[in-house]
Amino acid sequence: MRTIEHWIGGGTTRADSTRTAPVWNPATGQQQAEVLLAEPVDVDLAVSTAAKAFESWSQTSLTKRTKVLFAFRELVSRHAQELAEIIADEHGKVVSDALGEVQRGLEVVEFACGIPHLLKGDYSDQVSTGVDVYGFREPLGVVAGITPFNFPVMVPMWMHPVAIACGNAFVLKPSERDPSASMLVARLWAEAGLPEGVFTVVHGDKTAVDALLDHPEVAAVSFVGSTPIARYIHQRANANGKRVQALGGAKNHAVVLPDADLGFASDHLVAAAMGSAGERCMAISAAVAVGTGADQLVDVVAAKARAVRVGPGREEASEMGPVVTAAARDRITGYVDSGEQQGATVAVDGRGLVVPGHEDGFFVGPTVLDHVTPSMDVYRDEIFGPVLSVVRASDVDEAIALINANPYGNGTAIFTSSGEAARRFQRGVQVGMIGINVPIPVPMAYYSFGGWKDSLFGQSHVHGPEGIAFYTRAKVVTARWPHVDHPIAASYHFPTT
Ligand code: NAD
Repeated sequence: MRTIEHWIGGGTTRADSTRTAPVWNPATGQQQAEVLLAEPVDVDLAVSTAAKAFESWSQTSLTKRTKVLFAFRELVSRHAQELAEIIADEHGKVVSDALGEVQRGLEVVEFACGIPHLLKGDYSDQVSTGVDVYGFREPLGVVAGITPFNFPVMVPMWMHPVAIACGNAFVLKPSERDPSASMLVARLWAEAGLPEGVFTVVHGDKTAVDALLDHPEVAAVSFVGSTPIARYIHQRANANGKRVQALGGAKNHAVVLPDADLGFASDHLVAAAMGSAGERCMAISAAVAVGTGADQLVDVVAAKARAVRVGPGREEASEMGPVVTAAARDRITGYVDSGEQQGATVAVDGRGLVVPGHEDGFFVGPTVLDHVTPSMDVYRDEIFGPVLSVVRASDVDEAIALINANPYGNGTAIFTSSGEAARRFQRGVQVGMIGINVPIPVPMAYYSFGGWKDSLFGQSHVHGPEGIAFYTRAKVVTARWPHVDHPIAASYHFPTT
């Protein structure tokens, strides 16, 4: 059995870890590796190694840092297919989708390649007679990233290229369910010329996470995962005096107005609900059918959902792969059971799907539940599977009210041909990322990604300008260089001229 080790100080190591967790191949249902689970002593080694590396990396010129980033960009690009295959084998998603994930991560690296521009400071000449003021930003130190299973390359890349470009040392604790991609990323950083210890991977579970949250030398924590854990991370890291951004779960609604193009809206709804088996924080899990066309919308969506080709992520014909574990599959089908019991109509039933040749794989077929109401568990909870719940509303204002009553506020979308309705929607919804005829409105790398309400704890969104601000702190210098022949007298009041 292959053992996936940590990456500390520029190479792989077991450190003092003895506990392991299984890593499955979701398409076959077989265990393919085991991953080490770090103890606090391993985390301490990782953080102290990173702290040592920070001393010189933070003093490294912007020119040298930029060269490393450009080299890393080339290497990730060259290894994109390999990364995508690793993702497909451990996460389950189809390779073409995994390639898209790598591409979106790469765009953050490209953003970070502009670090000399992004770290340009401010300068105010002659704010008072003979006095200048200027500001610049410095890195924080060792910063940690704790990431979920659903984007094993992209979500860590929301963090580490930006943190490292800013001059920090980064310790990644990836998901223990698909840990291998991070190891290739670590090798690529090393090949790009990043000094040892600036990028570290420590695998583990709650024990490792808690050790990071409590470690006095960790200055900041970036977390992406489910809402209960995001809330916990935020509280504990905050209590320990750390800077923290914690992105949580989601329940993303897509509103379909009667004036929308039915073919376009239904195509995009099904792709956004079933892509990556619904295991995306920006997946559409609730469709809000507005007006009298709801039955027709459900019919068309159901037909398209039935046509989705489900199979192993490595097979080119597959449009949707398995879900990540047997436990995830059982949880998802349990939700479909509960929806049915609570009165929803199962328009398309993905329970019990068997993929020939992959009978033990963790497959759930596309599922559409109709006549869902806000009190049902399938509506209230994040299912994180290929399940689309259809709720109904009489007009756009009712749809906006429904979305605003939901505790999550990650993403949402509207399908319409009315600019007025779209504008009312974008101004009215309490959600961080909004799509207008775009079902999954993930911001580009040079904007920042983040939700509202229970989808984000802390103030800061990730990557883009907010990422730069998160991983740095400001210094403002007030300076004067008096002429030797004309010294300035000290005074006992605030200078005002
Ligand atoms: P998760 O919360 O179970 O795990 C995320 C990370 O936290 C992992 O590294 C895991 O090891 C660690 N962890 C798990 N339990 C912990 C505990 N009790 N104490 C400390 N650490 C713990 O999330 P997941 O199942 O890996 O990922 C899916 C979730 O992530 C979904 O809720 C999804 O919406 C969310 N997500 C959100 C975004 C976003 O941008 N808001 C992006 C991707 C995923």
